[in-house]
Amino acid sequence: MRSALSALELSRPRRLDEALELMAMRDRPTPLAGGTDLYVYLNAGTLSATRFMDVTRVAELKRLRVAREAVTIGGGVTFRKLREHAAIRRRFPSLAAAAAEVGAWQIQNRATLAGNVANASPAGDSLPVLLAHDAVVQVRSLRGGRDIPFAELYRGYRDLALEPDELITAITLPEPPRGARAFFRKVGTRRAQSISKVVFAGVIALERGRVTHARLAYGSMAPVPARARHAEAALLGRALTTAAAAEARESLARDLAPIDDIRSDREYRMDVAGNLLERFLHPFLKPA
Ligand SMILES: Cc1cc2nc3c(=O)[nH]c(=O)nc-3n(C[C@H](O)[C@H](O)[C@H](O)COP(=O)(O)OP(=O)(O)OC[C@H]3O[C@@H](n4cnc5c(N)ncnc54)[C@H](O)[C@@H]3O)c2cc1C
Repeated sequence: MRSALSALELSRPRRLDEALELMAMRDRPTPLAGGTDLYVYLNAGTLSATRFMDVTRVAELKRLRVAREAVTIGGGVTFRKLREHAAIRRRFPSLAAAAAEVGAWQIQNRATLAGNVANASPAGDSLPVLLAHDAVVQVRSLRGGRDIPFAELYRGYRDLALEPDELITAITLPEPPRGARAFFRKVGTRRAQSISKVVFAGVIALERGRVTHARLAYGSMAPVPARARHAEAALLGRALTTAAAAEARESLARDLAPIDDIRSDREYRMDVAGNLLERFLHPFLKPA
């Protein structure tokens, strides 16, 4: 049954310190950003919360800082901004590509990066990109701030390593190694408004024909976004031959444990995961 809207309370802080004060209260509100996940839960009547805090007016959450060594994206930055931002498109094209695949325009206009991260769906499109880019999540409470490596953010299915009074303020993506190439591909049932069956992001760098850096990250393939570490190890330090690529593909079976669900079965997901890896590596392959 739908949640009765008349029973809900909403606060609308304008500054981060006000928001953090509300989060420090015993009966703290649930942060509400674009609402594109929360409204769905409210509509379905699956949300027990009745107090909300609209964070869309908090200017600190909307900043996007571009520096030579990193880009820091405020938690409240929308996917619309990410898909259009010149520095993101140039330096983190896989994030711009993922942003352009979240829902459709209407969703991208409202949906935020922190909302995607905090919602913690294994199918969240930005999550493999953040994992592949060694992102760091900045969180704040009245007690202070701390940085959580994105790879350590999820303790299990929809279980974040966040304290109840902490807000995600920003996400930092360090500049990838020189010459690195990034890739993003989402496979769903249609071009827009579809939840991914498999989502993949990769970053690779080569020096003198050998792989010096490899990040292969998948969504919808495990309860949390997953790095394919065995597959990465099969590539690191080697010339990128068809044999090395085949070995990496085989290693995926040790890295990924997809489930059968209404969107796909395990076998299909593993096939697609391997195909996406091959597609990513193909432009760099050298004859054996
Ligand atoms: C039609 C439709 C299509 C969609 N398609 C896609 C898709 O293709 N790919 C995809 O990945 N997602 C999709 N989504 C899901 C949703 O749009 C994204 O997860 C979005 O990024 C959520 O962001 P939001 O700002 O709307 O979050 P909200 O709904 O406002 O919040 C989501 C969660 O994040 C928490 N939160 C928000 N901000 C913060 C913060 N600063 N700190 C801590 N916690 C915070 C909230 O408390 C809540 O738990 C779709 C949703 C709809 C309705």
